[in-house]
Amino acid sequence: MPELRQDPFTRDWVAITPGREDRPRPMTRPVATPRRSAGPDPACPFCPGREDDTPPEIWRLPAPAGRAGADWAVRVVPNRYPVLAAGDHPARHHTTGLHTWADGIGSHEVVIESPAHGWDIADGDDTAVADVLRTYRTRTLALRERGPGLVLPFRNHGAAAGTSLPHPHSQIVATPIVPLRFRHLFDVARAHYDDTGRCLYVDHTAAELADGRRIVATTEHVIALAPYASRAPYEVWLVPRRHQASFADASDEALDETAALLRRVLAALRDLLGDISYNYALISAPNGEEATAYFAWHLQIAPRLAEPAGFELGTGMAVNPVPPEHAAARLRDVLTARPAPAPPLQQARHRPAGRQP
Ligand code: UDP
Ligand code: ZN
Repeated sequence: MPELRQDPFTRDWVAITPGREDRPRPMTRPVATPRRSAGPDPACPFCPGREDDTPPEIWRLPAPAGRAGADWAVRVVPNRYPVLAAGDHPARHHTTGLHTWADGIGSHEVVIESPAHGWDIADGDDTAVADVLRTYRTRTLALRERGPGLVLPFRNHGAAAGTSLPHPHSQIVATPIVPLRFRHLFDVARAHYDDTGRCLYVDHTAAELADGRRIVATTEHVIALAPYASRAPYEVWLVPRRHQASFADASDEALDETAALLRRVLAALRDLLGDISYNYALISAPNGEEATAYFAWHLQIAPRLAEPAGFELGTGMAVNPVPPEHAAARLRDVLTARPAPAPPLQQARHRPAGRQP
């Protein structure tokens, strides 16, 4: 059973997960950049034809009627090597002397984004990307009922981002604790709300739009921007224009526009920098705090172009050699040369609902 331990010096949480070492990636040698083959890979546990080899499926989005090949478009399965075991969140922590720990129970799911082994968000169509985000929304709505904590959808792409499997997938972890970083984000946002009566994230989006230098692209409901204090070179956030604390409560319109922006930004990053490694994480308010007036969800995309070194370890400060204004200008140039496709997204909303066990 995984265990969550609280660092007595920082009060931050660490997951101790001995079972993760068994996953098919030797932790002692670097992983090669995944090979993107066109057809199914007989060795791949997420390719069509091997559905019975994964633990029992949690959820699926059926393939559109009449499409040849697999009968699913997106599958969600339990992670075979979970960071947290599945179950209702434990009610209390244990303390012995200076040590505080909690049972490592929550959830760790894999979202198999497409039956196609060589598919990628950056060159998927907007409807298929929206299917992936719709899956995050559906699963977050279900997982946040398990108790206090956090639900985090995220994606690793490329060797430097920690990918161990090339088949297109993301992951959703539900933790029974709220990590220190979220406590801090909440404290800062609450202080702004106390001072001004407004949401920091909405104020920030409006100010960035007025300034314009760090804006990458905009849609009616969502904006892509390079954050003022970007920790990573070419870091991009997707943020809603209007207040919404949890992505699980996002409207279909906001979700579809987020999908289209995500695809375009990832394609622009690839055009600019090649098939780089990146992580993204979809940050929402902790479970039970979805109605808060002072927080907004945001999708944070962090290219992994450099390894953190001793300075970062010692200070916790990031060193970013690419000014966000420069990153935004270059991404804007690429996006202008690569216009958004028409017509807009419609199809996904008319799909049959996913199956819930
Ligand atoms: N995995 C799985 N079933 C398998 C093989 C792998 O659930 O048969 C999981 C594995 O534990 C890992 C995920 O698939 O968490 C692949 O994730 P990714 O490549 O993004 O990086 P990782 O989580 O390994 O850092
Ligand atoms: Zn595959």
